[in-house]
Amino acid sequence: MAVPVENLIPDKTRGRKNAMLPASKMSFSCPHFSPEEDRCLRLKTDCVPGRRGCVLEGKTVFAVPVEERLREKAEENRKKALRRSLGLPEVDE
Ligand code: SF4
Repeated sequence: MAVPVENLIPDKTRGRKNAMLPASKMSFSCPHFSPEEDRCLRLKTDCVPGRRGCVLEGKTVFAVPVEERLREKAEENRKKALRRSLGLPEVDE
């Protein structure tokens, strides 16, 4: 089945000019992820696929670069810590 062109991202991993990959049709279940703790047991920190030390590091192309997702996670953690320190209830973002 053909993937619509708007769902494709450049494939920079195989060195082929103009190669494209599906951007959103992939699923991955990592054996190192703890759903109960919502964190990576391998790295003992937040799960951000593709981060340094992750099993996917350098093996996968992400639609959103890992650096940007790490920044977003750090900001999310900062907000959670602030809410906790102020005694406010946690909210899902
Ligand atoms: S950071 Fe990587 S190795 Fe760790 S749980 Fe997430 S996907 Fe798995």
